[in-house]
Amino acid sequence: MSADGKVEVGRSAGPPQARPAPSGGSAVHQVTSVGVEILLAEPRGFCAGVDRAIEIVERALQKFGAPIYVRHEIVHNTYVVNDLKAKGAIFIEDLDAVPAGATLIFSAHGVSRAVQDEARARGFRIFDATCPLVTKVHVEVAKLRREGFEFIMIGHKGHPEVEGTMGQLDDGIHLVEDVADVARVQPDQTARLALVTQTTLSVDDAAAIAAAVKARFPSVREPKLQDICYATQNRQDAVKMMSPQVDVVIVVGSPTSSNSNRLAELARKLGTESYMVDAADEIQASWFEGRPRVGLTAGASAPEILVNQVIGRIKALGAVSVRKMRGIEETVKFPLPKGLKPDAAPVAPAVSPKRNG
Ligand code: SF4
Repeated sequence: MSADGKVEVGRSAGPPQARPAPSGGSAVHQVTSVGVEILLAEPRGFCAGVDRAIEIVERALQKFGAPIYVRHEIVHNTYVVNDLKAKGAIFIEDLDAVPAGATLIFSAHGVSRAVQDEARARGFRIFDATCPLVTKVHVEVAKLRREGFEFIMIGHKGHPEVEGTMGQLDDGIHLVEDVADVARVQPDQTARLALVTQTTLSVDDAAAIAAAVKARFPSVREPKLQDICYATQNRQDAVKMMSPQVDVVIVVGSPTSSNSNRLAELARKLGTESYMVDAADEIQASWFEGRPRVGLTAGASAPEILVNQVIGRIKALGAVSVRKMRGIEETVKFPLPKGLKPDAAPVAPAVSPKRNG
């Protein structure tokens, strides 16, 4: 595992094991004469916020033409980002890289007030692909701050969602990453203290940290609805159901994807060997030796095409069947922003660009 809690691509955090040369083409060998069964988690892959964010970039490209600038990776997935780059999206971190009059999209993770203000001041044509469930947290934080609340935020330092949420306020929001941090945090007052969390955390880890916060600050205000989103919860629940039924869990997801990392971690905590892969060619034949039951899932930013490629790869290594797990059917859908709905009127850039990149 990397220092920030991520599972390294193609690596198990379990005991080290010899890795054979990657197989492929004529080097592909059957791993078992018994035959591997793939159990496919449900739900898996794209959530409503990711679907919406990608559609916003694609519609902006269709409507305004390339290039379209996107602040940060629209979602944390290498395949998605490369696909959109090929269609004309340019991913930037610094607004200095965006020319005057350009169309700019904020990623699904959300941005700070400072970034919003600067983008507006520069006169870009802006579309906000922040997931509405992240925006809900932003709105709540701003509202409670006006009422005099200070916050303890549970999240991962440096994650863009955490930076965006903490950046809704000038001050008064304290980040804790684990139970040990809770003992160290020093709010200015405790009479008006509220808890807020990143949307893509481990449900169980967040509950343990929240319990430590409540033990230290019994009057802390909790969110009415928990901030961890339905998609994160459902994908973790599916892994909880799947893990005892399989010998190894494969998670399709990029190393930067928080919720994908949490799925791989969760399987491992439940005692099942687990690997995270960004693409099918990272799959190693040795992972299935003596492990004929393979669980397969995907983080909320990983497209189904990658899941199908992974299935193809495991079949080439000896899988003989694919069985779908029963799970929750997700029906959540978020509306597109004004100006990108199918019958939307043209959206002009804001007036008086102050400067360009
Ligand atoms: S994982 Fe949750 S918060 Fe993130 S984009 Fe999907 S629905 Fe929104």
